[in-house]
Amino acid sequence: MRIVLIGPPGAGKGTQAVALAAHYGVPHVASGDILRFAVAWKTEIGLRAKEYMDAGELVPDEIVLELLKIRLEQSDAREGFVVDGFPRTLPQAEELDRILGEIAHAIDVVVNFEVPDELIVLRLSQRASCPTCGRTYNLLASPPRSDYQCDNDGTPLFQRDDDRPEVIANRLAVFHRQTRPLIRYYEDRSMLVHIDGAGDPEEVFERIVKEIECKQGEGK
Ligand code: AMP
Repeated sequence: MRIVLIGPPGAGKGTQAVALAAHYGVPHVASGDILRFAVAWKTEIGLRAKEYMDAGELVPDEIVLELLKIRLEQSDAREGFVVDGFPRTLPQAEELDRILGEIAHAIDVVVNFEVPDELIVLRLSQRASCPTCGRTYNLLASPPRSDYQCDNDGTPLFQRDDDRPEVIANRLAVFHRQTRPLIRYYEDRSMLVHIDGAGDPEEVFERIVKEIECKQGEGK
Protein backbone atom coordinates (compact mmCIF):
# COMPACT_ATOMS: atom_id res chain seq x y z
CA MET A 1 0.00 0.00 0.00
CA ARG A 2 1.42 3.37 -1.05
CA ILE A 3 -0.44 6.30 0.45
CA VAL A 4 0.36 10.00 0.15
CA LEU A 5 -1.21 12.56 2.49
CA ILE A 6 -1.53 16.16 1.39
CA GLY A 7 -3.17 19.11 3.09
CA PRO A 8 -2.34 22.26 5.01
CA PRO A 9 -0.03 22.23 8.04
CA GLY A 10 -1.98 21.22 11.14
CA ALA A 11 -4.57 19.28 9.12
CA GLY A 12 -3.83 16.13 11.12
CA LYS A 13 -1.66 14.43 8.49
CA GLY A 14 0.97 13.35 11.03
CA THR A 15 -1.52 11.84 13.46
CA GLN A 16 -3.37 9.99 10.70
CA ALA A 17 -0.12 8.87 9.05
CA VAL A 18 0.94 7.08 12.25
CA ALA A 19 -2.44 5.32 12.49
CA LEU A 20 -2.54 4.41 8.79
CA ALA A 21 1.03 3.09 8.82
CA ALA A 22 0.13 0.79 11.74
CA HIS A 23 -3.12 -0.27 10.07
CA TYR A 24 -1.50 -1.20 6.75
CA GLY A 25 1.80 -2.43 8.22
CA VAL A 26 3.99 -0.01 6.26
CA PRO A 27 6.51 2.65 7.40
CA HIS A 28 5.52 6.25 8.05
CA VAL A 29 7.71 8.69 6.15
CA ALA A 30 7.36 12.35 7.19
CA SER A 31 9.42 14.86 5.23
CA GLY A 32 9.17 17.40 8.07
CA ASP A 33 10.58 14.90 10.60
CA ILE A 34 13.42 13.96 8.24
CA LEU A 35 14.30 17.63 7.81
CA ARG A 36 14.04 18.35 11.55
CA PHE A 37 16.47 15.49 12.24
CA ALA A 38 18.88 16.93 9.69
CA VAL A 39 18.60 20.32 11.43
CA ALA A 40 19.07 18.79 14.90
CA TRP A 41 22.16 16.88 13.73
CA LYS A 42 23.49 20.05 12.09
CA THR A 43 24.22 18.22 8.85
CA GLU A 44 25.11 20.30 5.82
CA ILE A 45 21.59 19.80 4.45
CA GLY A 46 20.08 20.60 7.85
CA LEU A 47 21.98 23.87 8.07
CA ARG A 48 20.72 24.85 4.60
CA ALA A 49 17.13 23.82 5.36
CA LYS A 50 16.82 25.54 8.74
CA GLU A 51 16.38 29.12 7.56
CA TYR A 52 13.51 28.14 5.26
CA MET A 53 11.80 26.06 7.95
CA ASP A 54 12.08 28.79 10.59
CA ALA A 55 10.44 31.25 8.19
CA GLY A 56 7.63 28.84 7.26
CA GLU A 57 8.90 28.65 3.66
CA LEU A 58 9.34 25.45 1.70
CA VAL A 59 12.83 23.99 1.65
CA PRO A 60 14.13 23.99 -1.97
CA ASP A 61 13.04 20.97 -4.00
CA GLU A 62 16.55 19.65 -4.65
CA ILE A 63 17.28 19.35 -0.91
CA VAL A 64 13.97 17.66 -0.09
CA LEU A 65 14.20 15.34 -3.08
CA GLU A 66 17.70 14.22 -2.17
CA LEU A 67 16.55 13.20 1.34
CA LEU A 68 13.24 11.64 0.29
CA LYS A 69 14.79 9.60 -2.51
CA ILE A 70 17.25 8.05 -0.05
CA ARG A 71 14.43 7.31 2.42
CA LEU A 72 11.99 5.82 -0.10
CA GLU A 73 14.67 3.57 -1.54
CA GLN A 74 15.35 1.93 1.83
CA SER A 75 14.26 -1.70 1.98
CA ASP A 76 11.40 -1.21 4.47
CA ALA A 77 9.69 1.22 2.08
CA ARG A 78 9.89 -1.11 -0.91
CA GLU A 79 6.55 -2.78 -0.21
CA GLY A 80 4.71 0.37 0.71
CA PHE A 81 4.61 3.54 2.83
CA VAL A 82 2.50 6.35 4.15
CA VAL A 83 4.16 9.62 3.17
CA ASP A 84 3.15 12.78 4.98
CA GLY A 85 4.25 16.27 3.96
CA PHE A 86 5.67 15.21 0.60
CA PRO A 87 5.19 16.09 -2.20
CA ARG A 88 4.47 19.76 -1.60
CA THR A 89 5.23 21.16 -5.07
CA LEU A 90 4.54 20.01 -8.63
CA PRO A 91 8.23 19.21 -9.35
CA GLN A 92 8.27 17.05 -6.19
CA ALA A 93 5.14 15.19 -7.35
CA GLU A 94 6.65 14.59 -10.78
CA GLU A 95 9.90 13.37 -9.24
CA LEU A 96 8.03 11.02 -6.88
CA ASP A 97 6.26 9.49 -9.89
CA ARG A 98 9.64 9.05 -11.55
CA ILE A 99 11.26 7.42 -8.49
CA LEU A 100 8.34 4.99 -8.17
CA GLY A 101 8.34 4.37 -11.92
CA GLU A 102 11.94 3.18 -11.64
CA ILE A 103 10.84 0.41 -9.28
CA ALA A 104 7.65 -0.24 -11.30
CA HIS A 105 5.25 0.87 -8.58
CA ALA A 106 2.66 3.58 -8.31
CA ILE A 107 0.89 5.46 -5.54
CA ASP A 108 -2.38 3.73 -4.62
CA VAL A 109 -4.13 6.75 -3.21
CA VAL A 110 -3.55 10.41 -2.37
CA VAL A 111 -5.59 11.67 0.57
CA ASN A 112 -6.37 15.39 0.53
CA PHE A 113 -7.23 16.79 3.98
CA GLU A 114 -9.71 19.63 3.89
CA VAL A 115 -9.62 21.85 6.97
CA PRO A 116 -10.63 25.54 7.13
CA ASP A 117 -7.81 28.02 7.76
CA GLU A 118 -9.39 29.25 11.04
CA LEU A 119 -9.28 25.73 12.48
CA ILE A 120 -5.67 25.29 11.33
CA VAL A 121 -4.57 28.46 13.14
CA LEU A 122 -6.33 27.30 16.30
CA ARG A 123 -4.86 23.79 16.14
CA LEU A 124 -1.28 24.88 15.43
CA SER A 125 -1.25 27.48 18.19
CA GLN A 126 -2.33 24.75 20.67
CA ARG A 127 0.09 22.13 19.37
CA ALA A 128 2.97 20.77 21.47
CA SER A 129 5.49 18.32 20.00
CA CYS A 130 7.83 15.70 21.40
CA PRO A 131 11.43 16.24 20.22
CA THR A 132 12.24 12.56 20.75
CA CYS A 133 9.46 10.62 19.02
CA GLY A 134 7.74 13.40 17.03
CA ARG A 135 4.31 12.75 18.61
CA THR A 136 2.11 15.83 18.75
CA TYR A 137 -0.54 16.87 21.28
CA ASN A 138 -3.29 19.44 21.25
CA LEU A 139 -2.91 21.06 24.66
CA LEU A 140 -6.66 21.64 24.95
CA ALA A 141 -8.30 18.77 23.06
CA SER A 142 -5.82 15.91 23.61
CA PRO A 143 -3.23 16.95 26.23
CA PRO A 144 -0.50 14.59 27.49
CA ARG A 145 -1.30 12.61 30.67
CA SER A 146 1.32 14.44 32.69
CA ASP A 147 1.99 18.16 32.33
CA TYR A 148 4.02 19.00 29.20
CA GLN A 149 5.63 15.53 29.01
CA CYS A 150 5.31 13.02 26.19
CA ASP A 151 3.15 9.98 27.06
CA ASN A 152 5.46 7.73 25.00
CA ASP A 153 8.84 8.62 26.48
CA GLY A 154 8.45 11.33 29.16
CA THR A 155 10.43 13.91 27.16
CA PRO A 156 9.42 17.54 27.90
CA LEU A 157 7.24 18.83 25.06
CA PHE A 158 8.01 22.00 23.15
CA GLN A 159 6.30 24.37 20.74
CA ARG A 160 7.85 24.15 17.28
CA ASP A 161 9.38 27.47 16.18
CA ASP A 162 7.21 27.35 13.08
CA ASP A 163 4.02 26.92 15.15
CA ARG A 164 4.34 30.53 16.37
CA PRO A 165 1.43 32.74 15.14
CA GLU A 166 3.55 34.91 12.81
CA VAL A 167 4.99 31.84 11.04
CA ILE A 168 1.64 29.97 10.86
CA ALA A 169 0.17 32.67 8.60
CA ASN A 170 3.06 32.31 6.17
CA ARG A 171 2.90 28.50 6.17
CA LEU A 172 -0.77 28.69 5.23
CA ALA A 173 -0.07 31.18 2.46
CA VAL A 174 2.73 28.93 1.16
CA PHE A 175 0.35 25.95 1.22
CA HIS A 176 -2.28 27.75 -0.84
CA ARG A 177 0.30 29.05 -3.32
CA GLN A 178 2.60 26.07 -3.79
CA THR A 179 0.87 22.89 -2.60
CA ARG A 180 -2.78 23.40 -3.61
CA PRO A 181 -1.95 22.89 -7.33
CA LEU A 182 -1.17 19.26 -6.45
CA ILE A 183 -4.87 18.65 -5.87
CA ARG A 184 -5.50 19.18 -9.57
CA TYR A 185 -2.43 17.11 -10.50
CA TYR A 186 -3.69 14.05 -8.61
CA GLU A 187 -7.34 14.65 -9.49
CA ASP A 188 -6.41 14.54 -13.18
CA ARG A 189 -4.79 11.16 -12.54
CA SER A 190 -7.85 9.85 -10.61
CA MET A 191 -5.71 9.20 -7.54
CA LEU A 192 -7.29 11.62 -5.11
CA VAL A 193 -9.79 11.20 -2.29
CA HIS A 194 -11.01 14.20 -0.29
CA ILE A 195 -11.35 13.94 3.48
CA ASP A 196 -13.01 16.31 5.91
CA GLY A 197 -10.16 16.73 8.40
CA ALA A 198 -12.29 18.34 11.13
CA GLY A 199 -13.39 16.24 14.09
CA ASP A 200 -11.92 13.58 16.37
CA PRO A 201 -8.81 11.79 15.08
CA GLU A 202 -10.65 8.44 15.40
CA GLU A 203 -13.54 9.73 13.28
CA VAL A 204 -11.17 11.11 10.64
CA PHE A 205 -9.28 7.80 10.58
CA GLU A 206 -12.52 5.87 9.91
CA ARG A 207 -13.37 8.27 7.06
CA ILE A 208 -9.96 7.78 5.46
CA VAL A 209 -9.99 3.98 5.62
CA LYS A 210 -13.50 3.94 4.15
CA GLU A 211 -12.44 6.20 1.28
CA ILE A 212 -9.32 4.13 0.63
CA GLU A 213 -11.40 0.95 0.50
CA CYS A 214 -13.84 2.57 -1.94
CA LYS A 215 -10.95 3.71 -4.10
CA GLN A 216 -9.44 0.23 -4.13
CA GLY A 217 -12.86 -1.21 -5.04
CA GLU A 218 -13.03 1.15 -8.04
CA GLY A 219 -9.65 -0.07 -9.28
CA LYS A 220 -10.77 -3.73 -9.34
P1 AMP B 1 5.88 19.73 8.40
O1 AMP B 1 6.39 19.04 9.63
O2 AMP B 1 5.41 18.77 7.36
O3 AMP B 1 4.85 20.79 8.73
O4 AMP B 1 7.13 20.49 7.75
C1 AMP B 1 7.83 21.49 8.47
C2 AMP B 1 8.63 22.32 7.51
O5 AMP B 1 9.58 21.50 6.83
C3 AMP B 1 7.83 22.99 6.40
O6 AMP B 1 7.23 24.22 6.81
C4 AMP B 1 8.90 23.20 5.35
O7 AMP B 1 9.76 24.28 5.69
C5 AMP B 1 9.73 21.92 5.48
N1 AMP B 1 9.21 20.84 4.60
C6 AMP B 1 8.66 19.66 4.98
N2 AMP B 1 8.33 18.93 3.92
C7 AMP B 1 8.67 19.65 2.83
C8 AMP B 1 8.57 19.44 1.42
N3 AMP B 1 8.03 18.33 0.92
N4 AMP B 1 9.05 20.40 0.60
C9 AMP B 1 9.61 21.53 1.09
N5 AMP B 1 9.71 21.80 2.39
C10 AMP B 1 9.26 20.87 3.27
